[in-house]
This record gives sequence, structure tokens and C-alpha cells, in this order.
Amino acid sequence: MMNKKTIVAALAVYSMSFSALSIAQQQTLPPIVVQGAMPIEVEHFAQKLENPREDQVGGWRFWQGTVDGYPVVVSETLKGMSNVAAATAIAATQFRPVAIINQGTAGGHDPALKVYDIVLGKYSVNLGAFKTPHKRQGEGSDSLQWKPMDLLASKGSAGEDKNAHSIRQFPADAKLLAIAAGVKNSYKQGNVVEGVIGSADVWNSELDRIRYFRDSYHTSAEEMETASAAQIAATFNIPFVGIRVLSNNITNQGKYNPQTAQASQDYVYQVVKAYIANMNAK
Ligand code: SAH
Repeated sequence: MMNKKTIVAALAVYSMSFSALSIAQQQTLPPIVVQGAMPIEVEHFAQKLENPREDQVGGWRFWQGTVDGYPVVVSETLKGMSNVAAATAIAATQFRPVAIINQGTAGGHDPALKVYDIVLGKYSVNLGAFKTPHKRQGEGSDSLQWKPMDLLASKGSAGEDKNAHSIRQFPADAKLLAIAAGVKNSYKQGNVVEGVIGSADVWNSELDRIRYFRDSYHTSAEEMETASAAQIAATFNIPFVGIRVLSNNITNQGKYNPQTAQASQDYVYQVVKAYIANMNAK
């Protein structure tokens, strides 16, 4: 029989080798980063991590752990385009991720989509970058006349550059999108479609404006982060996909339901597992 001392020693060696293994893994393998803006959009995923460790950089929380033994970092980006850009840059430089998935809630632009349906963003667009036409004092304002302004199109004035007046599309990584689509059948709470995600620091509740976005830029849903995260990920050459669950859809009276945030994380957990299985199969 082992005495108490031997058991303690054996346990110490066991736990050392355990943590040594996961640290070694975390150092050699580039993690997958899963982003969400609000606590309800990340904490559920963070709880699914094996051996999670919470860190704070500036105002942003990160949980480092593993899924099926592969490193995954959950990142709470906070809300809006600036916050998510900074969180993405921090993740890019701190963790050098193999992929970034931005996920969470969104508002529907497509009346065919219901609350709980999921949009896999084949690309995203910035719905906050426009140039308004000139109007004289007293002529008012009509956002349906605004022209998109591609802030990446030119080093000169984007406002004056005619080539800059088409909307920039931030595409998903083809492999990530295919893997995300590959787990569609596992989702029982709604439909999963590929579509366009529009992002801005704006919550649009004007149906004419939403219709205009859908007609002009083919948006399926809007939120406040994906296009910004996609832009920064592209600047760092990191494969990216946005995945959003509809938490509300004003175009068909779909009432805001914060529970949908959990469904997004459950879906993305399946995507992450499939991505890891696909890497391991190689
Ligand atoms: N109703 C919540 C919403 C928070 S603000 C509250 O009051 O706490 C908006 C956040 O939810 C952003 O992170 C954005 O990405 C997401 N979002 C969900 N539906 C949206 C919509 N219709 N328009 C814009 N952002 C939306």
C-alpha cells in the first residue's frame, strides 16, 4: 500500500505533468480566438473551456484554456467598433491566433429570418462609413442618400476619391466558413444561413433604412462589431469568420431575446470542435 507521502508525491508529479503539458501546448500551438461583446455573449463559452485561466488586458477580459486539448482563447471585446478593434489587435499580438471567430447577437434585416436563426457571415460591411450629399441650411437630412465610403480604398481623401464610394466587403475565410456551415445540422433552435453582416455603432430601428441596407448591401443582420473585427483580422492576415444569432428582428416583430446569446456560443462551440478535429485529421 502507498503511504500518505507517496500519494502526495505521486499527485504532485501527476499535476505537474498535466500543467506542463497544457502550458507546452499553449506555447507551441496557435490558439483559436472566440470573441463576444457582452458578458452574456462570452461567459457561457468560457465555462466550457478546459483548464481556463482568466486574464485582463486594459479593460478587456480573456480566458485561455483548451477545447479537446487544443488552445482556445475566449475574448470579451466589449461593445462597439472601437472596443472590438482594440480587442482584436490585442488578441493578434498577444496570442498570434490561427483563427478568429466573432460571434454573438444581432438584429435581423431579412424578414425571412426569425429570432434564434443564425447567420454565417460570408462577408461583413461597415454600416457606419458614409459621405452625405451636400445640403443647404434648412434642407434637412436623408440617410437614404448617403454614399458608402471605403476607408481602406485610398491613402488620400476617401471623401473625394470616386473609387472609394462602394462598400468594402470583409470576406470570411473560406475554410472557416465551410467548417461553420458543416455543423448546421447540429443546430435545433432555428435555421442556419449564409449571409451578410452589417456593423456600426448604431442600432437601426427605422424600417426604411433597414430595407435600404438590405436592398443596397444585401445585409441579413446588423450588430456592432463584426466588420471592425474582420478589418483588423485581415490587417494581421488572420483567418476570420463572423457568426451571429438573431436576438431580435424588427422587420417581422421578432422581440429581443437575450437567451439567444447562449445558442450562439453553443453553435460556435461545435464550430470550434469541428475546426480542431479538421486540424487533427491532417
Ligand atoms: N438590448 C441590449 C443590447 C446591447 S447594445 C442591452 O440593452 O443591453 C447592442 C449589442 O448587441 C452590440 O454588441 C451588438 O453587437 C448587439 N446587437 C444585437 N442586436 C442589435 C441590433 N438590432 N442593432 C445593433 N446591435 C445589435
